[in-house]
Amino acid sequence: MKREAQAESAIFDVVIIGGGASGAWLALDSASRGLKTLLVEQYDFAACTSSRSTKLIHGGLRYLRRLDIGLVRESQREKNLLLHMAGDFITPLKFQIPCFSPYETLKYKAGLRLYDFLSQNEKSSGAYSREEMVSKSPNLHHDKVHSLLTYFDAGFDDSRFAIELLKKAFTCGACLLNYTRLDFFIYDAKHKIIGARIKDQIDFEEFEVYGKTFINATGPFTDIVRKINNPSETKIMCLSRGSHIVVDSSFLGTDEALLIPKTVDGRVVFMIPWKGKTLIGTTEEGQAKPEKDPAVTPEEVSYLLSTVRQFLRHGPEEKDIISRFAGIRPLVRRIPHRSSKILSRRHEILIESTSKLVTLTGGKWTTSRLMAEETLNRMMAHDLLPFRPSITSTLLIQRLDNIPSLPVSEETLKEKIHYYVKEEMATCIEDILSRRERLLFLDPQRALQLAPKVAEILKTELEHEYPIEQDEKAFTKIVNNYCPQSVRLS
Ligand SMILES: Cc1cc2nc3c(=O)[nH]c(=O)nc-3n(C[C@H](O)[C@H](O)[C@H](O)COP(=O)(O)OP(=O)(O)OC[C@H]3O[C@@H](n4cnc5c(N)ncnc54)[C@H](O)[C@@H]3O)c2cc1C
Repeated sequence: MKREAQAESAIFDVVIIGGGASGAWLALDSASRGLKTLLVEQYDFAACTSSRSTKLIHGGLRYLRRLDIGLVRESQREKNLLLHMAGDFITPLKFQIPCFSPYETLKYKAGLRLYDFLSQNEKSSGAYSREEMVSKSPNLHHDKVHSLLTYFDAGFDDSRFAIELLKKAFTCGACLLNYTRLDFFIYDAKHKIIGARIKDQIDFEEFEVYGKTFINATGPFTDIVRKINNPSETKIMCLSRGSHIVVDSSFLGTDEALLIPKTVDGRVVFMIPWKGKTLIGTTEEGQAKPEKDPAVTPEEVSYLLSTVRQFLRHGPEEKDIISRFAGIRPLVRRIPHRSSKILSRRHEILIESTSKLVTLTGGKWTTSRLMAEETLNRMMAHDLLPFRPSITSTLLIQRLDNIPSLPVSEETLKEKIHYYVKEEMATCIEDILSRRERLLFLDPQRALQLAPKVAEILKTELEHEYPIEQDEKAFTKIVNNYCPQSVRLS
C-alpha cells in the first residue's frame, strides 16, 4: 500500500501538521487516547528545530533569573517524568557552574537550592572541593575560580528521541508521513476546516486528506500555516536563531557539562559532552524567516569561542571547530517589540474561532509531552473531540531495535540502513547520517566520506526509484553548512 493511500482512505479524528517534538508528542498522545491520527511532515521527521537543540532535558535553571517559577516547576516535573519513562534515551547529566567571587557563590547556591526545591526530587546540587575541582574539570582556569558548584539535569539525542516517539505512536495506530507538505486547507460551507491538500515531496503527487480536527505544530513555520488558513492573520512568532559549534572532547576534559552562567550579553553558554565530542552553544540572534538549515555566522562562532576561552586553560581556536549547526527557536511574542532574549519559553495553544484550526507553538523539547496533553485536553473542552483521558505520562518509551548502538562505520552500515529504511522511513543520505545517526552534526567531513557507501546501500533497500547522483550532490551541499568555515567545500 502506498503511504498516501493509507492517508486518503480514512477520515481522521486528528490531523497534525509538523513532525518535530510538538508533532511527535501530539501524535503519540492522540493515538494512545484511541483517536484516529495522521501526522504530515514536509521534510524528514525532526528535520528542523527538533534536531538542533542543545540536547538537554532541563528544568530551566536560567529562567529562575526572570523568576519564571511556574515554568521551572513545570519543566522540573517533566524532566523527572521523562527520566522515569524513557531512561533508554534520556539520562542524568551532571553540570558544573564556575563562580568567580564569594558573592557569586552565594547567589548561585541560593538559586540551586530553589531549583532543587522546585524539582520536588531528592537534592541534586552540591559543590566540589579544590582538589575535586582539579580532577573533575582539568581544563578549567582553577586559579580564577572561587568555587565550582554542581547540579543535575539530563541529556538526550533529540532527533533519535523524536523518531522513537513516532514509532511508539505508530504502534498505537497513528499514520505518519514524512516528506509530505500541507499546502491548502479544504473547508465546509461554514468555513470550518474539513480537509487539506498535501504534496508528496518525493514524487510530487498531490492528494487530499480529511479530518475532524487539524493541529498546526509547525514550530518556526507557525505563522505561514496560520496564513494559509487566513491570509489576514497577524504574526504571533518571534524567531530566534541559536547556533552551536562542535569541538574535541578534550576542551571540556570531563564527562560533566559546564554552564557558563554569565556572558557579555547576559546569557548562559553550555559546554555539553555529547557522543564523544563537546557541543558549545548557544547564541541568540534574530532570524527573519524560517528555514530548515540556517547558517551559523562567523560572528556567532567568534562569540562562542571567546566566551568559553575566558574559562578554559586551553581554549578552542577557530581551527579546532569540527562542526557547527544552528536551529530556530519558535518563540511566541505576547508583547510586541520584546527582545527574543527575554521572551518566555512558555507555549501557546490557540483555536481559531471559525476554521477551528488549532495551533500549538512555543515551549521547549523538555515540556513538549505536557504541551501535547494540554492541547488535546483543550480541544476536548471545546467539544472538537470526544473526551478521552491522556495516558502519555504512564507510557514507557523503550528501545525497539536491537541493532548495535555503536558509532556508524562501514561494518555496521548495512544492518543499520536496512532498519532505518524499513522501520523509520529513511529515504535519503541526510535522513541516515543527520537524524538517525548524528555523524553530520558530529563530523561532517567523515559523513561526506561515508555518503557514497550509504547511497549504494540505500539503492538496494528503497522500494521507490532512488536518484543516487542527485542525492549525493544534495548531501554535499548540506555538508557545507556544517563544515567549519576553514574547510568549506566548493
Ligand atoms: C538552538 C536551540 C537549542 C535548544 N535547546 C533546547 C534544549 O536543550 N532543551 C529543550 O528542552 N529545548 C531546547 N530548544 C527548544 C526546542 O528545540 C524546541 O522548542 C522544539 O524542538 C520545537 O519543536 P517543534 O515541533 O515545535 O518545531 P520543529 O522541530 O521545527 O517542527 C516543526 C515541523 O513542522 C514542519 N512543517 C512546517 N510547515 C509544514 C507544512 N506546511 N506541512 C508539513 N510540515 C510542515 C517543519 O518541517 C518542521 O519539521 C532549543 C531550541 C534551539 C533553537
